[in-house]
Amino acid sequence: AYYNIHRLQTTQLKQLKAEHENDIELLLIRDRQLSDINSRLMRSNQDLESSTKMLIKKDRDLVAANQKLIHIDELKSDFVTTVAHQLRTPLSGTKWILSMLSKGEFGPITEEERQYVLKAYDSNNRMIILVNELLDIDRLENDKIQYVFGETDLFAITDDVVVELSPSVGMRGITIKIEGRENPFKIVADGQKIRSVIQNLLDNATKYIPNAGEISIKIEKDEKQAKFTIKDSGIGIPSRAHEKIFTLFYRAPNATQTETDGSGAGLYLSKKIIKKHGGDMWFESEEGKGTTFYFTIPFGLKANSKER
Ligand code: ADP
Repeated sequence: AYYNIHRLQTTQLKQLKAEHENDIELLLIRDRQLSDINSRLMRSNQDLESSTKMLIKKDRDLVAANQKLIHIDELKSDFVTTVAHQLRTPLSGTKWILSMLSKGEFGPITEEERQYVLKAYDSNNRMIILVNELLDIDRLENDKIQYVFGETDLFAITDDVVVELSPSVGMRGITIKIEGRENPFKIVADGQKIRSVIQNLLDNATKYIPNAGEISIKIEKDEKQAKFTIKDSGIGIPSRAHEKIFTLFYRAPNATQTETDGSGAGLYLSKKIIKKHGGDMWFESEEGKGTTFYFTIPFGLKANSKER
C-alpha cells in the first residue's frame, strides 16, 4: 500500500511539475510578448515626441507667418488709404473745373465739346465715388467708421445728389422724377453716410439704364419709419445673381458687360450703413425690365449732432 501511495504521489508530482513547466513556458511567452509591446510602445512614444516637436515648430512657423500676413495686410490697407486720400483732392479739383468748363464759364464751347467734357465729368465723379468706397471699406474693416447722427432731410440730400449727376444724365436723355414732396419730413440719421447711399443707388440707376430711360424716386414715411424707393427702367438683375448683390466686390455679368466702371463695393457698404441705422435695404428686379431698390430708416434714433 505504501509503495502504491508513493507511486501515486510521484505521478502527481510529475504531473504538477509538467504543469508548472507549462506555466513557466506560458509566462516566458507572455514576458516576450510584453517586452515586444513595451518596445513598440517606446518606439511610438519616440515617434510621438518627435511629432510633437515638429508640431510645435510648425505652430511657431504658422504664428510667424500669420504675424507677417497681418503686417502685410496693415501695409496694404495703409497704402490704399493713403493713395485714396491723396487722390481725393485732385479729383475734386478736376470735378469743379470740368463742371465750369461744361457751363461755358471759361468761354463758349460747342455742343460736341460740351458732351466730351460731360463724359469726363462723369468718369471723374465715378472715380470720386470709388475712392470714397475704398476709404469706407478700410474704415469699416478696421472699425474706424464714426456715425454722426443729426436731423437729416432725405429730400434735400436727394436734390443735391441729382444736381450733381444731372449734366451727364440730361445729356443721355434720362429723366429723374422725385415723388413725396407734398408730405415733407425729417429723420435722425448720419446725413453724410445716407448721402453716399443715395448717391450709390442713383449712380447705379443711371449706369445700368439705356439712354432715354426713366428713374423715379419716392420718399415717404409711415408711423415707424422713412422709406426711400428708387425704380429704374434699366437692364435689371438676373435672378441667379440676386443673392450675391450685396456681397463685397460682386458685379452681375450683365452689369460688367454694360458698364466697365464699377467696383461692386457700393451696395455692400450701403446696406451696412442702413443696417447701422437699424433699417433695411432690399430690391426687386427682373432682367431686361428694370430694378427697384428700397431702404428704410426707423424713426426715434438719437441725435449726437445738430444737423447733417
Ligand atoms: P458697382 O460699382 O458694380 O455698381 P454696386 O455694389 O453698387 O457696384 O452694385 C453691385 C452690382 O449690383 C452691380 O455690379 C450690378 O450687377 C448690380 N446692380 C446694382 N444696381 C443695379 C441697377 N440699378 N440695375 C441693374 N443692376 C444693378
